Amino acid sequence: MEYVERFLEHSAEFTKEEFIELLKLAGNEAAVKRLADEAVRIRKEVYGTAVFIRGLIEFTNYCKNDCYYCGIRRSNKNASRYRLSEEEILACCANGYALGFRTFVLQGGEDPYYTDERIVGLIRRIKAAYPDCALTLSIGEKSYESYRAFREAGADRYLLRHETATEDHYKSLHPKEMLLTVRKKCLYDLKELGYQVGAGFMVGSPGQTLEHLAEDLLFLRKLQPQMVGIGPFIPHHDTPFADEQAGSVQLTLFLLSVLRILLPHVLLPATTALGTADTAGREKGILVGANVVMPNLSPVENRKLYELYDNKICTGEEAAESREGLSRRMEAIGYELVTDRGDYRE
Ligand code: SAH
Repeated sequence: MEYVERFLEHSAEFTKEEFIELLKLAGNEAAVKRLADEAVRIRKEVYGTAVFIRGLIEFTNYCKNDCYYCGIRRSNKNASRYRLSEEEILACCANGYALGFRTFVLQGGEDPYYTDERIVGLIRRIKAAYPDCALTLSIGEKSYESYRAFREAGADRYLLRHETATEDHYKSLHPKEMLLTVRKKCLYDLKELGYQVGAGFMVGSPGQTLEHLAEDLLFLRKLQPQMVGIGPFIPHHDTPFADEQAGSVQLTLFLLSVLRILLPHVLLPATTALGTADTAGREKGILVGANVVMPNLSPVENRKLYELYDNKICTGEEAAESREGLSRRMEAIGYELVTDRGDYRE
């Protein structure tokens, strides 16, 4: 418990060794509760009891990358590939807008069909049709020039998880042509361009140690992103990590509290992976400091195909069309879904 109190007082100067000691307490009931209470107190001070929603549009599952953990990696010949047309994407936005979504997230594999020109055209159309909405991109690593073009076209936010902040561990999760230095540079480029930036990592990815997680926390503290996405690693049957163990929900929840305390204003989602690993994952995430949920707004017939990991949820409370159901579930735990862009509060 000593490290919990030390963290609460000195999170800005906490060292790697101290973070490791803190993370060892993820199974300690008193520590978990103390951190969650403090995380919720901070969250309520900054964002009240509002839960922001993002309409997630998974617009392509073609990908030129080959990340060992991911079900839509290019080497997975069993994946049936799809890409939505511009019209289909706009139809998703129309549907989402009517349901009360004021942020759209365009997420996809790194699909060469979607050239910068096409992405820019898409951003312009969405922002022209929905000037009161925020647009978030999550389409991987691009050049500074590309990021600038997207930003100038009107994109507001960008999600690019760093996946792991440790060089060796990064190499064990990705083929050799993918570099942590490039990933990190992308994040700094995005910040410089004035995006609200989201980084993050999987909890319990193969080979991950508490030392790696401590490095992730140090990196995030340095980067100061506006958003952090974390969720348990979940194996996908057609990847090299098919037989690896899934990450721990308990540790993910602990880390959500730690992140809220470390970055008090951060936009912190209770992620789909958390909701997949535990049917009450969304609520549990909100109750330990998260303040965002990202329901699926993709066309129903495509959802199953955006299979990053096995059994990924995409219906039920996960689905954008059941906003009412999700709303009731949040009310039941003392929170409220709001119709709002849900920007970062300085
Ligand atoms: N191509 C985009 C979007 C990636 S998918 C990009 O590079 O940013 C979004 C996130 O899903 C990834 O960043 C990764 O952290 C997560 N993810 C992928 N495979 C996963 C798995 N097997 N289990 C849990 N999360 C996974």
